[in-house]
Amino acid sequence: MTPNWHGKVVLPTAVTAGESEEFDLKDIAWNLGGVYPSSESAAYRADKEVLVSLSATVLSLLKQAESGELEASDWLPRALESLNRLLDLSENLGSYVYAAWSVDTSNEAAQGEMDDLEERSLALKDVLVRFRSLLPGVKFESLPDYRFWLDEQVFLSKRQMSPEEEALAADLQRCGGDAWDRLHSRLSSSLDRPWDDSEKTVTQLRSLAFDADRNVRKRAWEEECAAWKGAEVSFAAALNGVKGTTVTLNTRRGWGSTLEKSLVQNRLSRTALDAMLGVMTESLPLFRRYFRAKAKMLGLPRLAWYDLFAPITPGDTKSAGEIWSWERVSRFIPEMFDTLSIEMGDFARRAFSEGWIDASPRNGKVGGAYCTNLPLAGNGGESRILCNFDGSFDSVSTVAHELGHAWHGEVMKNLPAINREYPMTLAETASIFSETLVFRAALDRSPESSKPGIIDTYLVGASQVIVDILSRFHFESALMRYRPDGELSPAELSEIMLDAQNRTYGDALEESERHQWMWAVKGHYYSPDLAFYNFPYAFGQLFALGLYARFRKEGGDFAPRYRELLRLTGSADAVSVGKSAGFNIESPDFWHSGISTIKGFIEEFEKF
Ligand SMILES: [Zn+2]
Repeated sequence: MTPNWHGKVVLPTAVTAGESEEFDLKDIAWNLGGVYPSSESAAYRADKEVLVSLSATVLSLLKQAESGELEASDWLPRALESLNRLLDLSENLGSYVYAAWSVDTSNEAAQGEMDDLEERSLALKDVLVRFRSLLPGVKFESLPDYRFWLDEQVFLSKRQMSPEEEALAADLQRCGGDAWDRLHSRLSSSLDRPWDDSEKTVTQLRSLAFDADRNVRKRAWEEECAAWKGAEVSFAAALNGVKGTTVTLNTRRGWGSTLEKSLVQNRLSRTALDAMLGVMTESLPLFRRYFRAKAKMLGLPRLAWYDLFAPITPGDTKSAGEIWSWERVSRFIPEMFDTLSIEMGDFARRAFSEGWIDASPRNGKVGGAYCTNLPLAGNGGESRILCNFDGSFDSVSTVAHELGHAWHGEVMKNLPAINREYPMTLAETASIFSETLVFRAALDRSPESSKPGIIDTYLVGASQVIVDILSRFHFESALMRYRPDGELSPAELSEIMLDAQNRTYGDALEESERHQWMWAVKGHYYSPDLAFYNFPYAFGQLFALGLYARFRKEGGDFAPRYRELLRLTGSADAVSVGKSAGFNIESPDFWHSGISTIKGFIEEFEKF
């Protein structure tokens, strides 16, 4: 569900004698048959039938409640029980078919099932809308476990238009906001420029930012800018369309501002957001020190936009790196988890030994990595992890990241489904925590010669999440300020973007070589439902790093608090989740502790 922002290590390290070995991964596939034998199996069909019939039952229950035939004390507990069951079933079935499809994208049966389940999920949406509109005035003191979620639904029922207007808005969204979003995706995936004897898409041009040759990076950046410029009128029309719709609907629904809605979606207080943004702003000089140190290493007076992702050691390629065998990873990660708690280490051992991980890259399998929860599998819920392990340092980090998500699922597994749904701000807590734990330990064990490259790659990720995300927040704030007064021209959008980059990158980046079309690049700006899809990234990273800093201080004593915090992520707001572990996220001190981990890496980097 979350995009690629893991701050993971991409660069390899030098081969270490004794540790390198040929690895043959063809057998590292997961065990999915234990969940359902197939999507045609009787077990799968039976669960799906329950999903369909229960949706109909709960819908008629809610209709009875609407007509006043039932008391709240009668319909509410029954509706909650059915909702939990429906959420479990749809998550289990959906995760299973997606998993089956993702290791074999030619699997048409799985593809058909995914479409069918998506269709069926509309009924669940309808159930939720009706449920919400029945709540105001209902007393639910007798349901303390659901207090937080019910309060939230009551609040949201006051931030919606009449059912008829909502239905019209949902219908129009398909040819309004969603259509602008699709236009953005289609245009940006088809843009290309001539390159030598053929063409390169903007995606290919953007990936040349990692090239070791500065001339190649510069040329790719120039071509990329030319491509965006050539289509800027269309991108600006789409962006004005999306944001215009957002302004109109949010006003009609009674939101004070677009940011307010985003804060509610993320269960975050304004005070906490301001504290975090304040510390991010204060940390900018620190990041500029890193940019200057990197410029020096590259022999440049100052970095240009196209140097941000440049490798600091030419010739670094994945194949030249230190190769981690799967066997070594399956011992190393649980051992690192043991340093927090044996329980977490044993959990990771179980994931490796019981076939929860599909690690081998192969034809027909999707790229990247993910973790998915199967709440009805095994004894109270299991997870499955997909990755494309290649033996690199990056791969090891990825496995640790995804196992962190799985541990989050394990800790929450006995909770009702309603209390397992966490906002994006808290979704990456366990994953980044685990990734940092393993990253730090693996770095300490790496040969000295490979450390600069590893740390640089970490800092490239960290500066994206802090410095670039802050510039995106500034950009979107300005855009939402100006948009109610009318459409913005491409030149105005670029001007706002350059101003936002100036405020964050400052003089650490060459002024004439930045990226004024980032407003066309990033798809997040074009999502009609999710405005300010930027600060949750920074929150996720810094929140996890703040917890990690506490773990470094307290060691294994931190384990019970960490566990309790993870359990709460689906049934409390972010401030209360922090409080449960003794943190005040409305105070800058907490955010400073997150930055301190990055600061340590910058100081190490400056010494190279
Ligand atoms: Zn993740």
